[in-house]
Amino acid sequence: MKYNKLTERIINQLIEIMGEDNILINKEEMGDYLCDEMSIPKNYFPDVIVRPKNTVEIAQIMKLADKEKIPVTPRGSGTGLCGGAVAIYGGILLSLEYMDKIVEVDEDNFVAVVEPGVRLSELYKAVENRGLYYPLLPGEESASIGGNVATNAGGMKAVKYGVTRNFILGLEVVLPTGEIIRMGGKFVKCSTGYNLTQLIIGSEGTLAIITKIILKLLTAPKANGMLFVPFKNLYDAIRTVPELFRNNIIPVGIEFIEKESIRISEEYVGRKLPSRAGEASLLIIIEGNSSEDIFNLCDSIGEICMKNGAIDVLVPLTEKEKRDILEIREKHYHAIKNQGPMDLADVVVPRSKITDFMMKIEEISKKHNIKILGCGHAGDGNVHLSIHGKDVSKFKQVFEEIYKTGKSLGGMISGEHGIGFEKKEFFHITVSKDHILLMKRIKKAFDPNDILNPGKIF
Ligand SMILES: Cc1cc2nc3c(=O)[nH]c(=O)nc-3n(C[C@H](O)[C@H](O)[C@H](O)COP(=O)(O)OP(=O)(O)OC[C@H]3O[C@@H](n4cnc5c(N)ncnc54)[C@H](O)[C@@H]3O)c2cc1C
Repeated sequence: MKYNKLTERIINQLIEIMGEDNILINKEEMGDYLCDEMSIPKNYFPDVIVRPKNTVEIAQIMKLADKEKIPVTPRGSGTGLCGGAVAIYGGILLSLEYMDKIVEVDEDNFVAVVEPGVRLSELYKAVENRGLYYPLLPGEESASIGGNVATNAGGMKAVKYGVTRNFILGLEVVLPTGEIIRMGGKFVKCSTGYNLTQLIIGSEGTLAIITKIILKLLTAPKANGMLFVPFKNLYDAIRTVPELFRNNIIPVGIEFIEKESIRISEEYVGRKLPSRAGEASLLIIIEGNSSEDIFNLCDSIGEICMKNGAIDVLVPLTEKEKRDILEIREKHYHAIKNQGPMDLADVVVPRSKITDFMMKIEEISKKHNIKILGCGHAGDGNVHLSIHGKDVSKFKQVFEEIYKTGKSLGGMISGEHGIGFEKKEFFHITVSKDHILLMKRIKKAFDPNDILNPGKIF
């Protein structure tokens, strides 16, 4: 074992840095920190949990951990889906939950500066109060912004707005060796050396601890709408998506969901979608400058959908109707988790290949006699598959075939959830050996003693 044991002497030094109140040593108090939201939970105990209140404390903790060779696992809200925030080697679990201040909403520069523990739901409220807009919608609003940055979270509005990395202008981070670095700023352009901000985004807490985030904001749209469109089959639903773009229509989000997934979500939420017709449906989210804009958009989208094999086009009119539909999609993960043992894949393929991918998934499902359900982001090629069955020993082989299929269609094993420790055994399927070696060299430059979130990604 390359790490040292956390001794009483080191715990006393941690107490000196940050006081006794924000440190948990008693195993009975650690229950909420042992796992994240991964589908098949695996619990790991850290030796100690620290909840620092500022960047200077984090810098001192990292200097100490690096000197003593103690592993450190950063943790936001623990809503990750692949075990990224879990202390698999024990050591220090560093929770960012107390660094939850919205430092500034700068209305002139359209920028918010936040600490990493701020939850997505709090950010929405803070910017909305100023008439501003943070448009991204990763499905779990209790997630922290630091976690969103570390995983490069995506979500339902990526078609128009992209993913978290498209909204990050700058970061303050603490390196594993304890130095504090500020990168980027309240500006859009920058040709000043390597773009380290973008390197940190999506690094899953393996390169640095994010301690402050500069976010880009927009003005809020004046109107929004939604269409729920059942199709005879998935093929028709998916081929409609590029037709929308060809007609210069860029919805905010386009989700697809198959019939069986709809049934399970409806049962879980206790509400019904406006239609159960067809094998697959699209949920199309739109924004505009007026209700007239929305009306016209619904009209054009509806026409294109009908020309491409839609069975019907349903437009919820009230906010409650819209919320109910969205909730059935958002609660999908909890609904399928409720079905018994299952695991999740988050493959991304080129948008046009979703149907080919799903056809091959059906073959894999039949070959292994295992239920695989699909839903996801039709507008950006990110397909969430849930693999169900009591015999979880079959899952590894099924995942391997799913990831190889994704790769053969030009895809990657994760579109938005990350690798964590859960998917690392499959990482080599979609990236080359040299690619992984380069990543390892970058990791070494940031973290020579490999103390920050070890055992994640590779
Ligand atoms: C119901 C549900 C729906 C979801 N829907 C989506 C979705 O639509 N799109 C999507 O992208 N994700 C989704 N997720 C996954 C999850 O919410 C995201 O991955 C989120 O970004 C994780 O944030 P967190 O604060 O919970 O991070 P955690 O789970 O605590 O940590 C995630 C990773 O980030 C690292 N990390 C956290 N904070 C920091 C920091 N300050 N500095 C350095 N590293 C850090 C951790 O070490 C870990 O590797 C969903 C999850 C659930 C449960």
